Amino acid sequence: MHEMSLVQALLAQLTTLAAEHDKKRVITVTLDIGPLSGVVIDSFQFGFDILSAETSLTKGAKLIIINPPATYQCIRCGHRQSAAVRPDHCPECNETLLIPEGGDAIILNQVEME
Ligand SMILES: [Zn+2]
Repeated sequence: MHEMSLVQALLAQLTTLAAEHDKKRVITVTLDIGPLSGVVIDSFQFGFDILSAETSLTKGAKLIIINPPATYQCIRCGHRQSAAVRPDHCPECNETLLIPEGGDAIILNQVEME
């Protein structure tokens, strides 16, 4: 499962962060996962629940996932719209070829540690 390796990377990042700031426990982790990242949120949450319980640093940590919309730009008129799901057509000119911008990243938004 693709999400498991992403969770492992996240946990490694948290371990580094905690060491840098001399923290012992992660309380909440807020992640932005773009709609075009290909990540299945439920699988990610599932992986986090399992792997985070294995170390004292992240045991009981709460994962908050924010799913920001992507921006789609019309290839014909340049109109931009943001949407969580890919729109069928441009509302201005009905063109169906829309180019997504952003929305494919996984960003560590905020970490609360103690
Ligand atoms: Zn258009």
